[in-house]
Amino acid sequence: MPDHFCVSRQTAEDFMRLFVNRLAYGIQREKPLPDGTVPYIKQTRPLDSGAVRMHLNGDMTINLYAINPQTQSSKWVAIDADYDGSLEALFQLQWELKQDGVEAALEQSRRGGHLWIFGERPLLASQCRIYIYNLALRLGVPVKGGGLKEGIEVFPRQDEIKEGAYGNAIRGPLGVHRKSNRRYWFYEADITPESQLAYLKRLKKLTGAELGTLTKGMALPHAYRHSEPVPFVPRIPTAGYREFRILDYVQTTGKQDTRNWKAQCPSCAKGGRDRSRNNLGIKISDPRFYVCRAGCTKEEIRAALRQPVRKIVMA
Ligand SMILES: [Zn+2]
Repeated sequence: MPDHFCVSRQTAEDFMRLFVNRLAYGIQREKPLPDGTVPYIKQTRPLDSGAVRMHLNGDMTINLYAINPQTQSSKWVAIDADYDGSLEALFQLQWELKQDGVEAALEQSRRGGHLWIFGERPLLASQCRIYIYNLALRLGVPVKGGGLKEGIEVFPRQDEIKEGAYGNAIRGPLGVHRKSNRRYWFYEADITPESQLAYLKRLKKLTGAELGTLTKGMALPHAYRHSEPVPFVPRIPTAGYREFRILDYVQTTGKQDTRNWKAQCPSCAKGGRDRSRNNLGIKISDPRFYVCRAGCTKEEIRAALRQPVRKIVMA
Protein backbone atom coordinates (compact mmCIF):
# COMPACT_ATOMS: atom_id res chain seq x y z
CA MET A 1 0.00 0.00 0.00
CA PRO A 2 1.28 3.50 -0.74
CA ASP A 3 1.86 5.80 2.24
CA HIS A 4 -1.09 7.83 3.38
CA PHE A 5 -0.47 11.50 4.19
CA CYS A 6 -2.43 14.22 5.89
CA VAL A 7 -1.35 17.45 4.22
CA SER A 8 -2.37 20.96 5.23
CA ARG A 9 -4.55 23.27 3.18
CA GLN A 10 -1.40 25.37 2.71
CA THR A 11 0.35 22.43 1.01
CA ALA A 12 -2.67 21.91 -1.24
CA GLU A 13 -2.56 25.60 -2.15
CA ASP A 14 1.15 25.34 -2.98
CA PHE A 15 0.27 22.49 -5.34
CA MET A 16 -2.47 24.58 -6.95
CA ARG A 17 -0.16 27.55 -7.46
CA LEU A 18 2.35 25.35 -9.30
CA PHE A 19 0.10 23.06 -11.29
CA VAL A 20 -3.45 24.35 -11.63
CA ASN A 21 -4.11 26.73 -14.50
CA ARG A 22 -7.80 25.95 -14.92
CA LEU A 23 -10.27 24.30 -12.61
CA ALA A 24 -11.42 21.50 -14.90
CA TYR A 25 -10.14 18.09 -13.83
CA GLY A 26 -10.85 14.38 -13.70
CA ILE A 27 -10.68 11.73 -10.98
CA GLN A 28 -9.04 8.41 -11.76
CA ARG A 29 -11.10 5.26 -11.24
CA GLU A 30 -10.18 3.42 -8.03
CA LYS A 31 -9.54 0.12 -9.79
CA PRO A 32 -8.49 -0.82 -13.32
CA LEU A 33 -11.13 -1.84 -15.88
CA PRO A 34 -11.01 -5.45 -17.16
CA ASP A 35 -8.81 -4.28 -20.07
CA GLY A 36 -6.25 -2.95 -17.59
CA THR A 37 -6.82 0.76 -18.24
CA VAL A 38 -7.63 3.11 -15.38
CA PRO A 39 -9.48 6.03 -16.95
CA TYR A 40 -10.17 9.42 -15.41
CA ILE A 41 -13.74 10.56 -14.99
CA LYS A 42 -14.24 14.18 -15.89
CA GLN A 43 -15.72 16.19 -13.01
CA THR A 44 -18.40 18.82 -13.37
CA ARG A 45 -17.44 20.69 -10.19
CA PRO A 46 -14.40 22.96 -10.28
CA LEU A 47 -11.20 21.76 -8.65
CA ASP A 48 -10.59 23.12 -5.15
CA SER A 49 -7.97 22.71 -2.45
CA GLY A 50 -10.13 20.07 -0.73
CA ALA A 51 -9.88 17.80 -3.78
CA VAL A 52 -6.16 18.54 -4.08
CA ARG A 53 -5.65 17.55 -0.42
CA MET A 54 -7.39 14.24 -1.08
CA HIS A 55 -5.12 13.74 -4.09
CA LEU A 56 -1.96 14.45 -2.06
CA ASN A 57 -3.15 12.35 0.87
CA GLY A 58 -3.75 9.39 -1.42
CA ASP A 59 -7.53 9.18 -1.10
CA MET A 60 -8.10 9.83 -4.80
CA THR A 61 -6.08 10.72 -7.89
CA ILE A 62 -6.71 13.69 -10.14
CA ASN A 63 -5.54 14.74 -13.59
CA LEU A 64 -4.86 18.26 -14.81
CA TYR A 65 -5.34 20.09 -18.09
CA ALA A 66 -2.48 22.18 -19.42
CA ILE A 67 -4.09 24.95 -21.45
CA ASN A 68 -6.47 27.60 -20.28
CA PRO A 69 -8.37 28.59 -23.45
CA GLN A 70 -8.81 32.15 -22.22
CA THR A 71 -5.08 32.77 -22.47
CA GLN A 72 -3.94 29.78 -24.60
CA SER A 73 -1.26 29.46 -21.95
CA SER A 74 -0.04 26.81 -19.55
CA LYS A 75 1.67 27.09 -16.15
CA TRP A 76 3.97 24.24 -17.04
CA VAL A 77 5.41 22.07 -19.75
CA ALA A 78 5.56 18.33 -19.05
CA ILE A 79 7.58 16.04 -21.26
CA ASP A 80 6.23 12.50 -21.01
CA ALA A 81 8.39 9.57 -22.05
CA ASP A 82 7.60 5.90 -21.57
CA TYR A 83 9.48 4.05 -24.32
CA ASP A 84 12.65 1.97 -23.96
CA GLY A 85 15.55 4.24 -23.15
CA SER A 86 13.27 7.17 -22.45
CA LEU A 87 14.76 7.98 -19.05
CA GLU A 88 18.10 8.57 -20.71
CA ALA A 89 16.45 10.95 -23.19
CA LEU A 90 14.81 12.86 -20.32
CA PHE A 91 18.15 13.24 -18.51
CA GLN A 92 19.67 14.47 -21.75
CA LEU A 93 16.87 17.01 -22.21
CA GLN A 94 17.20 18.11 -18.58
CA TRP A 95 20.91 18.72 -19.02
CA GLU A 96 20.44 20.57 -22.30
CA LEU A 97 17.67 22.72 -20.80
CA LYS A 98 20.08 23.65 -18.03
CA GLN A 99 22.54 24.91 -20.64
CA ASP A 100 19.73 27.22 -21.80
CA GLY A 101 19.26 28.40 -18.19
CA VAL A 102 16.02 26.43 -17.79
CA GLU A 103 15.61 24.30 -14.66
CA ALA A 104 13.49 21.18 -15.07
CA ALA A 105 12.36 18.63 -12.49
CA LEU A 106 12.27 14.93 -13.27
CA GLU A 107 9.37 12.90 -11.91
CA GLN A 108 9.37 9.11 -12.05
CA SER A 109 6.49 7.40 -13.78
CA ARG A 110 5.27 3.86 -14.28
CA ARG A 111 7.49 3.29 -17.31
CA GLY A 112 9.91 6.20 -17.64
CA GLY A 113 9.36 9.71 -16.41
CA HIS A 114 7.92 13.17 -16.78
CA LEU A 115 10.16 16.19 -17.05
CA TRP A 116 8.52 19.38 -15.78
CA ILE A 117 9.31 23.03 -16.50
CA PHE A 118 7.38 25.75 -14.69
CA GLY A 119 6.54 29.23 -15.92
CA GLU A 120 6.91 32.25 -13.69
CA ARG A 121 3.51 33.13 -15.16
CA PRO A 122 1.52 31.01 -17.63
CA LEU A 123 3.45 30.59 -20.90
CA LEU A 124 1.97 30.53 -24.41
CA ALA A 125 1.33 26.88 -25.26
CA SER A 126 2.44 27.32 -28.86
CA GLN A 127 5.76 28.85 -27.78
CA CYS A 128 6.40 26.07 -25.24
CA ARG A 129 5.87 23.49 -27.95
CA ILE A 130 8.13 25.24 -30.45
CA TYR A 131 10.91 25.31 -27.86
CA ILE A 132 10.72 21.67 -26.80
CA TYR A 133 10.17 20.25 -30.29
CA ASN A 134 13.19 22.09 -31.63
CA LEU A 135 15.31 21.13 -28.63
CA ALA A 136 14.37 17.46 -29.04
CA LEU A 137 15.04 17.57 -32.77
CA ARG A 138 18.47 19.11 -32.14
CA LEU A 139 19.34 16.35 -29.66
CA GLY A 140 17.95 13.58 -31.81
CA VAL A 141 15.36 12.71 -29.16
CA PRO A 142 12.35 11.17 -30.93
CA VAL A 143 9.02 12.98 -30.62
CA LYS A 144 5.81 11.00 -31.03
CA GLY A 145 3.68 11.92 -34.03
CA GLY A 146 4.94 13.21 -37.35
CA GLY A 147 5.42 9.62 -38.49
CA LEU A 148 7.03 8.30 -35.28
CA LYS A 149 5.14 5.86 -33.05
CA GLU A 150 7.57 6.02 -30.15
CA GLY A 151 9.01 9.09 -28.59
CA ILE A 152 8.41 11.84 -26.09
CA GLU A 153 5.06 13.58 -25.81
CA VAL A 154 4.89 17.25 -24.96
CA PHE A 155 2.12 18.69 -22.77
CA PRO A 156 0.49 21.04 -23.68
CA ARG A 157 -0.36 18.79 -26.61
CA GLN A 158 -2.06 21.58 -28.56
CA ASP A 159 -0.88 25.02 -29.68
CA GLU A 160 -4.27 26.37 -28.74
CA ILE A 161 -7.73 25.09 -27.95
CA LYS A 162 -11.20 26.44 -28.61
CA GLU A 163 -13.32 28.04 -25.89
CA GLY A 164 -15.04 25.20 -24.03
CA ALA A 165 -12.44 22.62 -25.14
CA TYR A 166 -10.00 20.88 -22.81
CA GLY A 167 -7.08 19.46 -24.75
CA ASN A 168 -5.16 16.65 -23.10
CA ALA A 169 -4.77 16.05 -19.38
CA ILE A 170 -1.86 14.56 -17.48
CA ARG A 171 -1.85 12.65 -14.16
CA GLY A 172 -1.49 15.09 -11.29
CA PRO A 173 1.99 14.61 -9.77
CA LEU A 174 2.56 13.31 -6.23
CA GLY A 175 -0.64 11.26 -6.10
CA VAL A 176 -1.17 7.50 -6.17
CA HIS A 177 -1.31 5.91 -9.60
CA ARG A 178 -4.32 3.58 -9.47
CA LYS A 179 -2.89 1.12 -11.96
CA SER A 180 0.29 0.33 -10.02
CA ASN A 181 -1.13 1.55 -6.69
CA ARG A 182 2.01 3.50 -5.95
CA ARG A 183 3.31 7.04 -5.92
CA TYR A 184 5.95 8.41 -8.25
CA TRP A 185 8.21 11.09 -6.83
CA PHE A 186 10.50 13.77 -8.16
CA TYR A 187 14.09 12.58 -7.99
CA GLU A 188 15.76 15.44 -6.17
CA ALA A 189 13.74 15.81 -2.96
CA ASP A 190 12.63 13.79 0.05
CA ILE A 191 9.54 11.72 -0.56
CA THR A 192 6.83 13.62 1.27
CA PRO A 193 4.38 15.98 -0.45
CA GLU A 194 5.77 18.91 1.57
CA SER A 195 9.44 18.33 0.66
CA GLN A 196 8.58 17.67 -2.95
CA LEU A 197 6.57 20.88 -3.27
CA ALA A 198 9.27 22.86 -1.46
CA TYR A 199 11.78 21.57 -4.01
CA LEU A 200 9.52 22.50 -6.93
CA LYS A 201 8.91 25.98 -5.47
CA ARG A 202 12.67 26.57 -5.29
CA LEU A 203 13.23 25.77 -8.97
CA LYS A 204 13.96 28.72 -11.21
CA LYS A 205 10.83 29.54 -13.18
CA LEU A 206 10.92 30.30 -16.88
CA THR A 207 9.71 33.77 -17.87
CA GLY A 208 7.79 34.62 -21.03
CA ALA A 209 10.64 36.93 -22.09
CA GLU A 210 13.21 34.13 -21.72
CA LEU A 211 11.02 31.74 -23.69
CA GLY A 212 10.63 34.40 -26.37
CA THR A 213 14.42 34.69 -26.65
CA LEU A 214 14.88 30.91 -26.69
CA THR A 215 12.39 30.48 -29.55
CA LYS A 216 13.31 33.53 -31.59
CA GLY A 217 13.07 32.72 -35.29
CA MET A 218 11.90 29.16 -34.61
CA ALA A 219 8.75 27.40 -35.75
CA LEU A 220 7.25 24.01 -35.03
CA PRO A 221 9.08 21.44 -37.21
CA HIS A 222 7.11 20.72 -40.38
CA ALA A 223 6.30 17.12 -39.59
CA TYR A 224 4.48 18.14 -36.42
CA ARG A 225 2.41 20.98 -37.81
CA HIS A 226 -1.23 20.39 -38.31
CA SER A 227 -2.52 22.59 -41.07
CA GLU A 228 -1.20 26.07 -40.63
CA PRO A 229 0.30 27.36 -43.87
CA VAL A 230 4.01 28.02 -44.12
CA PRO A 231 4.60 31.76 -44.20
CA PHE A 232 5.73 32.80 -47.63
CA VAL A 233 9.11 34.47 -47.86
CA PRO A 234 10.31 34.93 -51.42
CA ARG A 235 13.83 33.67 -51.92
CA ILE A 236 14.29 35.78 -55.01
CA PRO A 237 12.33 39.01 -54.77
CA THR A 238 10.97 39.19 -58.30
CA ALA A 239 7.97 41.43 -58.89
CA GLY A 240 4.77 39.51 -59.48
CA TYR A 241 6.33 36.07 -59.11
CA ARG A 242 5.92 33.93 -56.04
CA GLU A 243 8.46 31.18 -55.89
CA PHE A 244 6.82 27.75 -55.74
CA ARG A 245 7.23 25.99 -52.41
CA ILE A 246 6.24 22.35 -52.23
CA LEU A 247 5.80 22.59 -48.44
CA ASP A 248 2.98 25.09 -48.98
CA TYR A 249 1.04 22.37 -50.76
CA VAL A 250 1.75 19.05 -49.10
CA GLN A 251 1.43 17.85 -45.52
CA THR A 252 4.60 16.09 -44.41
CA THR A 253 4.07 12.78 -42.67
CA GLY A 254 7.46 12.34 -41.05
CA LYS A 255 11.05 11.88 -42.08
CA GLN A 256 12.17 9.48 -44.78
CA ASP A 257 15.70 9.57 -43.36
CA THR A 258 17.75 12.26 -41.65
CA ARG A 259 17.82 14.45 -44.76
CA ASN A 260 14.34 14.20 -46.26
CA TRP A 261 10.74 14.82 -45.29
CA LYS A 262 8.18 12.41 -46.64
CA ALA A 263 4.69 13.24 -47.86
CA GLN A 264 1.99 11.90 -50.12
CA CYS A 265 2.94 12.53 -53.74
CA PRO A 266 0.22 14.82 -55.21
CA SER A 267 0.49 13.17 -58.61
CA CYS A 268 0.22 9.66 -57.14
CA ALA A 269 -2.67 10.85 -54.95
CA LYS A 270 -4.52 12.09 -58.02
CA GLY A 271 -4.32 8.57 -59.41
CA GLY A 272 -5.55 7.09 -56.11
CA ARG A 273 -2.09 5.78 -55.24
CA ASP A 274 0.37 6.37 -52.36
CA ARG A 275 -2.11 5.55 -49.61
CA SER A 276 0.81 5.20 -47.20
CA ARG A 277 1.60 8.86 -47.91
CA ASN A 278 5.34 8.53 -48.23
CA ASN A 279 6.24 8.48 -51.91
CA LEU A 280 7.37 12.07 -52.02
CA GLY A 281 10.77 12.87 -50.53
CA ILE A 282 11.53 16.54 -49.84
CA LYS A 283 15.03 17.67 -48.97
CA ILE A 284 14.91 19.25 -45.51
CA SER A 285 17.82 21.61 -46.07
CA ASP A 286 16.40 22.85 -49.37
CA PRO A 287 12.76 22.01 -50.07
CA ARG A 288 13.16 23.14 -53.69
CA PHE A 289 14.34 19.58 -54.24
CA TYR A 290 11.66 16.93 -54.13
CA VAL A 291 11.24 13.60 -55.84
CA CYS A 292 8.56 10.90 -56.13
CA ARG A 293 9.94 7.44 -55.58
CA ALA A 294 7.18 5.99 -57.77
CA GLY A 295 8.65 7.97 -60.64
CA CYS A 296 6.24 10.89 -61.15
CA THR A 297 8.01 13.75 -62.88
CA LYS A 298 8.31 17.24 -61.44
CA GLU A 299 5.93 18.40 -64.21
CA GLU A 300 3.32 15.82 -63.19
CA ILE A 301 3.60 16.73 -59.51
CA ARG A 302 3.27 20.43 -60.24
CA ALA A 303 0.36 19.83 -62.63
CA ALA A 304 -1.43 17.82 -59.93
CA LEU A 305 -1.13 20.87 -57.66
CA ARG A 306 -2.31 23.22 -60.44
CA GLN A 307 1.04 24.95 -60.10
CA PRO A 308 2.59 24.22 -63.48
CA VAL A 309 6.34 24.60 -63.81
CA ARG A 310 7.09 28.15 -64.84
CA LYS A 311 8.67 28.44 -68.25
CA ILE A 312 11.74 30.59 -68.19
CA VAL A 313 11.58 33.00 -71.07
CA MET A 314 14.93 34.35 -72.08
CA ALA A 315 14.72 38.00 -72.95
ZN1 LIG B 1 4.15 10.12 -57.52
